[in-house]
Amino acid sequence: MSTYHLQVVSLDGPEFEGEVQKILLRTIDGDVEILARHTDFCTAIGMGTAKVTMADGTDKKAACIGGMLSVMNGEVRVLPTTWEWAEDIDVERAKAAKARAEERLKDQMLDKEARVRAEAKLYRALVRLGSSGQDPNNLN
Ligand code: ATP
Repeated sequence: MSTYHLQVVSLDGPEFEGEVQKILLRTIDGDVEILARHTDFCTAIGMGTAKVTMADGTDKKAACIGGMLSVMNGEVRVLPTTWEWAEDIDVERAKAAKARAEERLKDQMLDKEARVRAEAKLYRALVRLGSSGQDPNNLN
């Protein structure tokens, strides 16, 4: 399968650079898969698990949250707000963040802005748990 050059740079710094067969990631308009020779394209990234298929055909997963995806002249750049490879995800931290967000959302007096923030935090934790191979509905 043809490959192309992918660069992933998050707010924390460079996360990946190399030849890949494809990347699948969640954008604000749904899941998008970029193959070699994709037409020029730019979109905002949502929150989800990204799947990178390396040049040798192996898949690597990452939690990919926010930012931009750009395809220009065959160069593919993913510029996420946060990016964590599955093996780097601190599962206990994500479980704790999920529990804190769920606790906060039980508060009936929470104003709209605080509710939106807590929901986003909960969703980030769920994405991290899902990306690390955990079943967010069946944690122990
Ligand atoms: P927390 O409450 O645990 O900080 P959060 O969703 O508020 O979670 P973010 O603001 O999205 O955290 O991320 C802050 C930084 O911490 C980023 O660099 C992100 O990659 C990292 N990070 C957050 N949660 C985890 C995790 N469970 N495992 C590894 N890195 C994480």
